[in-house]
Amino acid sequence: MQNLQTSTLAVLNQSIKIITATSCKTKPTAFLNAADLHKQFLLLGRERNKITYKLLALLPQIYKRKIYEKHGFATIYEYAGKLAGLSHSTVEKALKLEKKLENKPLLQKAIEKCGVHKVAIIANLATPETEKMFVDKLENMSKPALQQLSKELRGKMTGKIQTTWQIEMDEEMMKTFLKLKKTLGKFGSELSNKEAMRRMLRKWAEMSGGKEPKVVMGENVKPQTQAKKKQEIPGERKHSQSEGFLNQDNKLEKQNQQNHQSKSGRSTRFARSAPASRYIPIAKKRLILAQTNGGCAHPNCQNPAQIFHHQVRYSQSKSHESVIALCRIHHEFAHNGITENTTEADRLYRKYRQTSLS
Ligand SMILES: [Zn+2]
Ligand SMILES: [Zn+2]
Repeated sequence: MQNLQTSTLAVLNQSIKIITATSCKTKPTAFLNAADLHKQFLLLGRERNKITYKLLALLPQIYKRKIYEKHGFATIYEYAGKLAGLSHSTVEKALKLEKKLENKPLLQKAIEKCGVHKVAIIANLATPETEKMFVDKLENMSKPALQQLSKELRGKMTGKIQTTWQIEMDEEMMKTFLKLKKTLGKFGSELSNKEAMRRMLRKWAEMSGGKEPKVVMGENVKPQTQAKKKQEIPGERKHSQSEGFLNQDNKLEKQNQQNHQSKSGRSTRFARSAPASRYIPIAKKRLILAQTNGGCAHPNCQNPAQIFHHQVRYSQSKSHESVIALCRIHHEFAHNGITENTTEADRLYRKYRQTSLS
């Protein structure tokens, strides 16, 4: 009881501080530009969500110990609604979720940081052995990406996912494979075996005149249809003002480079000796998109490509050899240890994503 009161007080104090801080610092809203208004709304919304998550984390104990009755409320719903403005359905979700998390203390704790809705997505999939891994995904992945992950893990993807083959290679096949892998460009040997195999098959299909994959953006392919339907290139739309197609890899690289520059104090020399090569040339982007016909390169994904992703991070390779086009969701998969191993660069990516205001 004592603890409960202390933590509720702490939450209250925190919210008072936030309200005071914002009301003192800010100009009257009529004088704020659109970007600042949005930023303020976003920040306050985030603070409010944080408080809601903390309230929801307290509810199961209040329910179990019938604390609401002691304060004259007939039900937990009335208590949560009148005292904190929580809706009936949200309270119901929090209490149901609690039952699924009985032997998963880390996920119980994650409600405080990530909220009931995100935790509910993976509550049935997680086990006491895997809950730690899932907490990491909850903290770093968006809700749509978690929903997709849950779907893929349940194997409910439209039938195709079950047709994954496993082929056992003998020594001779393995040797040939590794030899060929090295021929896949400068960083071929750093690609995953699966990606290397995919590229080899693609090359072979192209060489043998197979119809797969359909090349729509190749320089010499049917100029009349090209003129008719120009494929959109993520990150290259109308002076890159559009928020719809952001190249997050490039943004992150830029940020990294700026960080390095300010630390080393030789920004101008650095910038001159390494021109904007982290930007993928448009011709290269077209080639990459042609490989998947403008779609996401993740197996069985039907989404359009939205982000150019360096499988070997640009900071390590200083090359665009390993770039593939992904949809936003599978790009999150790649940077969160689901389809690729995580690297030091992913730590920065995750931090950037968590603090990003866009
Ligand atoms: Zn990426
Ligand atoms: Zn995808």
